[in-house]
Amino acid sequence: MEIHFWGATRTVTGSMHEVRHGNRRILLDCGLFQGRRSEARERNCCFPFSPGTVDRVVLSHAHIDHSGNLPNLVKQGFDGPIHATAATQDLCRSMLMDSAHLQERDAEYLMRRRDRRKRVVDNYEEPIVEPLYTQEDARKTLALLQDLPMNGTMDLGEGLRAETVEAGHMLGSVSMVLSDDKTRIGFSGDIGRKNLPIIRDPQQMLPCDYLIMESTYGDRLHQDEGSVLDKLADIVNRTAARGGKIIVPSFAVGRTQQLVLLLNQLVMAKRIPSIPIFVDSPLAVNVTDTFRKYSNLFDAETARMLSEDAEGDVFGFSRLRYIRDVEDSKALNHLRGPMLIISASGMCEAGRVVHHLRNAITEPRNTVLLTGFQAENTLGRKILDKWPEVPIFGEMFRLRAEVAKINELSGHADQRELIEWLRPIAGGLKKIFLVHGEARQQAAFKIVVEATYDVEVVVPSRGDAFKAV
Ligand SMILES: [Zn+2]
Repeated sequence: MEIHFWGATRTVTGSMHEVRHGNRRILLDCGLFQGRRSEARERNCCFPFSPGTVDRVVLSHAHIDHSGNLPNLVKQGFDGPIHATAATQDLCRSMLMDSAHLQERDAEYLMRRRDRRKRVVDNYEEPIVEPLYTQEDARKTLALLQDLPMNGTMDLGEGLRAETVEAGHMLGSVSMVLSDDKTRIGFSGDIGRKNLPIIRDPQQMLPCDYLIMESTYGDRLHQDEGSVLDKLADIVNRTAARGGKIIVPSFAVGRTQQLVLLLNQLVMAKRIPSIPIFVDSPLAVNVTDTFRKYSNLFDAETARMLSEDAEGDVFGFSRLRYIRDVEDSKALNHLRGPMLIISASGMCEAGRVVHHLRNAITEPRNTVLLTGFQAENTLGRKILDKWPEVPIFGEMFRLRAEVAKINELSGHADQRELIEWLRPIAGGLKKIFLVHGEARQQAAFKIVVEATYDVEVVVPSRGDAFKAV
């Protein structure tokens, strides 16, 4: 077998790796690359292979940096099966349609800008911008989804098997091993953590010869800064006391449901004042329904909360309103007084949260609460780094709001957790390929892994290929 690295190399987005088995090509993930607009467009648009030659795709989980370029793969000729667990399939149904809608809107915006420039600049030339993919492409993609067992084995034909274990990173997420009679290639997907709200802990990884491994927090330790509930309560209480709004940019999938669950607990315990709480994201509304459907995947604590909840719904309570309609979203701008708004996207790159940030960020009473990883060059990273002014919709805005961060909800294992995750399989590994991490994290993690275990660690670049025999 051979492994080819096409995405999430020395960066955290655009997960896409290829395993060649004989003359068959299997893609592990097909994620969207996120970053500077022009670079992202070029990277996502152009596959370094002909999509029609790919035989099948196996998805580790539904996050858009792992699944979000599938409709483009289909648009450009792929028509094989896309294997994903049942929960991942349902999440993809919401997420890929939403992503297609955003792509269409993005293209419309660029076309309007082009037309404006054409009107004021003589002989202005700019090519027509097409969406990366459309909702029609997304619908065709969803028709190709097929089962992948959670914690089981599946035959991929011609002597190739896929085995999976629960990755504990988000609902439906798996780590996997592809194997024939000679070689076992592992793919970690994104590695979760113990004790995260809602989802179960990661299961022990299966033995393999070669491992493609994520390294998002390869150089960091998550600090144990007290209970996440205490921290969240403090932020809500101090912002409400000064009459401010709390804007929480959040991944619609996973992070939003965790926050809702925690806020539900704080409200029940009367630890925060009774302020209105909004989840302003049509995608989050749909995805929360999927979470409700897969309560069989909940961890023991959430299952207990569910059994004790009077309405049998841990994602709903009286002060909480889910907002689907765009007019209702705009109406939030005119509401006064303390409130908490959870809205996508998590790195503040798109979606309704950008409007809420524009409205809230210049006011010192308000708080921007970041709850997830902020990649380089994203608006979220600029806010996290407390730039005095940040660009929003092409204009600069003074950042006067408080910036708070909760790290405890990170769905990614930290350095120590990654090392422990490796322990049961490290003795049998011939090589580890680090992906899904920024170069600095990967360099540090390589040193720690090689000092801990007797295994070679490689940090591949895009386009690198290795024989796995
Ligand atoms: Zn992920």
